[in-house]
Amino acid sequence: MTPQDLAFDARHIWHPYTSMTQPLPVYPVASASGYTLTLDSGETLIDGMSSWWAAIHGYNHPQINAAMKQQIDRVSHVMFGGITHQPAVDLCQRLVAMTPAQLECVFLADSGSVAVEVAMKMALQYWHARGEKRQTFLTLRNGYHGDTFGAMSVCDPDNSMHSLWKGYLAENLFAPAPGCRFDADWDEQDIVPFARLLAAHRQEIAAVILEPIVQGAGGMRIYHPEWLRRIRKMCDSEGILLIADEIATGFGRTGKLFACEHAGIVPDILCLGKALTGGTMTLSAALTTRHVAETISDGDAGCFMHGPTFMGNPLACAAACASLDILAQGHWQHQVARIDTQLRAELGPLQAAETVADVRVLGAIGVVETHRRVDMAALQRFFVDRGLWIRPFGKLIYVMPPYIISPQALSRLTTAVAEAVQNPALFLD
Ligand SMILES: *Cc1c(COP(=O)(O)O)cnc(C)c1O
Repeated sequence: MTPQDLAFDARHIWHPYTSMTQPLPVYPVASASGYTLTLDSGETLIDGMSSWWAAIHGYNHPQINAAMKQQIDRVSHVMFGGITHQPAVDLCQRLVAMTPAQLECVFLADSGSVAVEVAMKMALQYWHARGEKRQTFLTLRNGYHGDTFGAMSVCDPDNSMHSLWKGYLAENLFAPAPGCRFDADWDEQDIVPFARLLAAHRQEIAAVILEPIVQGAGGMRIYHPEWLRRIRKMCDSEGILLIADEIATGFGRTGKLFACEHAGIVPDILCLGKALTGGTMTLSAALTTRHVAETISDGDAGCFMHGPTFMGNPLACAAACASLDILAQGHWQHQVARIDTQLRAELGPLQAAETVADVRVLGAIGVVETHRRVDMAALQRFFVDRGLWIRPFGKLIYVMPPYIISPQALSRLTTAVAEAVQNPALFLD
């Protein structure tokens, strides 16, 4: 890439959550393979991010590539209205088989945020069909569910700057984020405010929506499974729907295939995305019980009111099938368990560092929360200089590598994180 290309990028192209007047530096990637990214300059970086939870099997996976190439020569895309195709059927069969038996009906959508919109619309249509006016969602603070308006309305109000959208954004109910940690003793008090909020609004709430066990972009918090069991029970006794957003946690990242399994609960609607295609294409899904699907379908509208242009994109479905076949081989289980053990051993001791507020590990997720905000550009440079790709934000330096990462490569990531937290120049405030 020429300096002119980079200048064009800085002047004309928006990157995620960046400014057009003060763009952060970007690193041109030429190719990627396994757990490494290769920059234009020829430098290779060990990937600690899996491209935001997605590239679980690493990049350029031969099996996924082959499936996509084969599909391209048949048909890359065809409308899904009035048409079906083998990749979509194959994918939905796999999804129905690998998720709890109650989740039977699959809606394929384009991205995580859209799957959340779809799930929320399903909940609203469900209550409309039942003749009850329930249009409020109850969720947890520090949550993240995407960047579209419905999704934003259930994201943490501070993190997603609800003040910007006041008067436009739907107003939902926010319970305090779970305080009780994943491996701590259960604290009955922790869920009391949630229970009160639910009880006080029991007749307005259409659904509870949450990220099971791991709250991702809203703070990388990992909470006690008892939270989910209690919420499932409360929802059951009130008839309120439970939407589990497993867009980040799905497909093995937390050590279970789905994070809900840590609590042994089944949601009424399950959102999947990110790793669904092994990080190759954008695709998401919202799965529901037959009860939810049939209630919606028997309502006034007579159908579910959503149908994206690229719904069920065959190329993305083919990639997803290949990715799920790799998962089905089962190697992810010992890979993620090994990463979990190593992250605990290598990041755990950082708890003692003065700059560090907390260390949290679950499955192939390792989080170091610092007291001060990181200087993102400086810290990014620091990691790239060491041949590593780690993208911190706020007070969070975290790694969630592809499951196939080698122990040596993972050690290089954790060693650099340990070095970084000792370096005051990398922090703001
Ligand atoms: C990333 C994410 C989303 C949004 O997915 P996009 O594909 O970025 O729209 C929604 N929910 C959770 C939990 C996520 O991590």
